[in-house]
Amino acid sequence: MISVAALAATLLSAGIPAGSVCYEIFVRSFYDSDADGVGDVNGLIQKLDYVRDLGARCIWLMPVAESPSYHGYDVTNYYRVDPDYGTNDDFKRLVAEAHRRGISVLVDLVLNHVSSEHPLFQDALRKPGSAYRDWFRWSATPGHNWHRSPARDEYYYGFFWSGMPDLNFENPAVREEAKQVARFWLREMGVDGFRLDAVRHLIETGDSTANTSGTHAVLRDFGQYVRSIAPDALTIGEVWDSTGVLLTYYPDQLDAYFAFELSDGILEAVRSGSASKLFPGYLRLQRELPASRWAPFLRNHDQTRTLTLLGGDVARAKLAATLLLTLPGLPFVYYGEELGMTGDKPDERLRTPMQWTRGTAAGFTRGTPWEVLQPDSLTANVEAQEGDTGSLLNLYRRLIHLRAENAALSSGELVPLTASNGAVAAYLRVGGGRTVLVVANLGPTPLAGVTLSSRRGVLPAGRYRSAATALRVGPDGRIRAYVPLRSLEAKQSYVFELSPAAAPRSVPRQ
Ligand code: CA
Repeated sequence: MISVAALAATLLSAGIPAGSVCYEIFVRSFYDSDADGVGDVNGLIQKLDYVRDLGARCIWLMPVAESPSYHGYDVTNYYRVDPDYGTNDDFKRLVAEAHRRGISVLVDLVLNHVSSEHPLFQDALRKPGSAYRDWFRWSATPGHNWHRSPARDEYYYGFFWSGMPDLNFENPAVREEAKQVARFWLREMGVDGFRLDAVRHLIETGDSTANTSGTHAVLRDFGQYVRSIAPDALTIGEVWDSTGVLLTYYPDQLDAYFAFELSDGILEAVRSGSASKLFPGYLRLQRELPASRWAPFLRNHDQTRTLTLLGGDVARAKLAATLLLTLPGLPFVYYGEELGMTGDKPDERLRTPMQWTRGTAAGFTRGTPWEVLQPDSLTANVEAQEGDTGSLLNLYRRLIHLRAENAALSSGELVPLTASNGAVAAYLRVGGGRTVLVVANLGPTPLAGVTLSSRRGVLPAGRYRSAATALRVGPDGRIRAYVPLRSLEAKQSYVFELSPAAAPRSVPRQ
């Protein structure tokens, strides 16, 4: 029997190198090039050097296709960049400029539903005998998620709200159109892949609105199509669900998915000051799949920002960043998280303009910003943090670059260690002939004499140098009562490489 992991490895996307970090960008809020208060494609081009310096080798752009809303998750034309953001030619230039800097471009693809203003939905809604009638779902009777037609005595289905009628993916014409849209962005616009929105809702069966077998079949077909026309492209899906459910979307559907439970686990660990729930989810995914096929993150555009969630505690935000960027997977960083930007619901406040400078509107626009900035924009901005070696921004930069350069962090195995104190998270990353040790005191008090041990053999026997103490690994390869540092500061993490003091060798036994 072929294992899931073996099958999964054959589907690996070649386009995004191991050790990469992706950066999620809301174009409307990133940088405004023409002073109308709205971020745009040309503005993003001007800030690509910032993205490169951060170390991100891939960007995910929230929807850029034409849409009546500020967020773009309800599309009216899948083949045209929203005029607020620029033109298709501007977008092609963006892709070329990103590629010149070694940055891949993923765009958000919203396939579950369209805008209620989409011409095809309007045609289906109003025109008797419309050819697009079967592109949507209709009912003579009301029900949950069924919305009254403004044109006739009937109801249409929209999982999220009435402004987003669901497409009917049981119709082969709809599945074909989804492929044509993908082909357009890959071939005409030159993108490197897609982040696919709300994919667990593609096909509803009876009362079941998520994770149906029909949905899996659609994704299998769509993923295969993308791989057939663009073998290096990456498809990554939003399945906002448990790790157990996530695993049902492998091995042969999309390439990767966001690992929501891992993100919650990191934040819970730094919030509670306890390492106990950090590793099980990571180890389960590591057992089943290559690390390039699951994507941890701290927060995305639908969630309270990290620093707000952590009550403004920058030390804890640094711990969260360190864990995210030294644990395995393909990490995603939501724009502004690297500055500790704040924000809580409603959604607009999670997506406020990027804070660039100490100047007016934090340097985001020379006009009036489309959304009021966060109150901390005078201090939490790129200009203020750039010169401060201890800033959150510089920590992100160091860790993202380290991850790309160090094979153990890029693709090494995660080996959790047992710490003598439950507030300490400690683990090795082992790979490519290198070993990195991460020790994090998640608690609010300094700790002395914390020891680390491993349950099994993890390293070749020998002596290793580390930051402050020597590590001696016995013939069985196990780590025992290792004191990496005499004291661990409160809410402080340490990342260092374990180098053999001499060539590792087995200790001969007499
Ligand atoms: Ca603009």
